[in-house]
This record gives sequence, C-alpha cells and structure tokens, in this order.
Amino acid sequence: MGQILETISRLNNSLPKNVSFVAISKTKAENAIMEAYNAGVRMFGENKVQELGLKYENLPKDIQWHFIGHLQTNKVKYIASYISLIHSVDSLKLLVAIDKEAKKCGRVIDCLLQFHVAQEETKWGLTLQEAIQIVESDEYKKMNNVRIVGVMGMASFTNDENQIRAEFAEIKQNFDLLKIKYFQFAEFKHISMGMSHDYEIAVEQGSTLLRIGTTIFGNR
Ligand SMILES: *Cc1c(COP(=O)(O)O)cnc(C)c1O
Repeated sequence: MGQILETISRLNNSLPKNVSFVAISKTKAENAIMEAYNAGVRMFGENKVQELGLKYENLPKDIQWHFIGHLQTNKVKYIASYISLIHSVDSLKLLVAIDKEAKKCGRVIDCLLQFHVAQEETKWGLTLQEAIQIVESDEYKKMNNVRIVGVMGMASFTNDENQIRAEFAEIKQNFDLLKIKYFQFAEFKHISMGMSHDYEIAVEQGSTLLRIGTTIFGNR
C-alpha cells in the first residue's frame, strides 16, 4: 500500500465521525494529489491562486477546492467560479470582493472567518471584536452571494501543548459566541483548526475540519 493511501486510511479510521480533513496539497504535484483522490479524498486546500488555477484545470472536476491562505481582493476573481470554501476571510474588504465576484458567477460562496489567536505577528486573522464589526456592518447585511459557515484559525508554532490548547479553545469559544448571536442556522458548523503537528489537540478542542498537508504528502 502506498504511503499516501496508508495515511488517509489511518486518518479515516482514527478521526471522530464529525471531524473531516482537507488535504493541503500546496506545492505538491498532481500525481500525489491523484493518489489521495484515488484513496477517496475530495477536499483539497491550496494557498496560491495561480497554482490552484492550474490544478483546478487539470484535475477531476468533483474535487472541492478550499482556499486556505491570505487572499488578496484583486485575486478573488480568478477562483470565484469554482472555489468551494474560503477559509481565510480576514477583512470586510475581502468579503465585499468575494460577494461581488460570486455575484458575477451567479454563485453563493461559503466562507470562514479567520481568527488571529497565535502569538506570531505574522499570522493573519481577525479579533473577535473585528469579526463582530463585520457581521454587524450594513455592507455585510446587504450581501447575497457569500455565506459564512464557520471559523478558522491557527495556533502558535510551539511545543507548548497548553498554549496550543488554549488558542484552539479561544477559536471554539468565538465560534460558539457567533453561532448564538448571529448564525443560528445549521450550515454555520465549521471549525477549521488543526494541522499536521497539532491536529490531535484541535480535535480534542472541538475542531470539525482539519487542514492536513505534511502528514499526508510528506515534507514540502
Ligand atoms: C500549509 C498549511 C496547512 C497544512 O500544514 P501541514 O503542517 O503541512 O499540515 C494548514 N493550514 C494552513 C493555513 C496552511 O498554510
């Protein structure tokens, strides 16, 4: 059995029923993606618009492509016709652009609000207060072509499991608060947190959607 197939079987057998994973295929070749595809994976995540576009063109059309990196507003137009979930909404300006491009395509694009909870300055994302400002804004209320279906976040890159645990707990807490106050519908259900090195803690803290690259495809 190939390494990729083996890892995917192990993940499928070990994760709780309500937890799924996106295979993060950035920088990986199409044959590696096809190996995961043939093992049954349909959700793949990329963080570069151009690379994603090429893979979208060349690979099976029943793949659900997720965008996971910081997304520039002027690049939304290149992915709007096919993207299945954007994990990385970190400003009202970006949400406005997604709504506009989705409308041109006659689509409603599912999005997650990305939170900044890690200590690293470099990680993108919103504070809870900023997220609330977005969902309470008149601009957001007028949007018909985006649907916010959950939250996303990354923990600090550290060996301190307690810190990782606390940061994931904060993302979960933000999810719960937003759900009660603004999103009392079934589709608001995604908590995207957990990568190769910390997904077990993420599952313990309530993740529903893991973003796993290295564990599946090997080092980049
Ligand atoms: C690259 C990336 C991942 C996957 O990381 P691995 O450590 O390879 O599992 C997850 N989330 C985001 C936002 C990423 O950029």
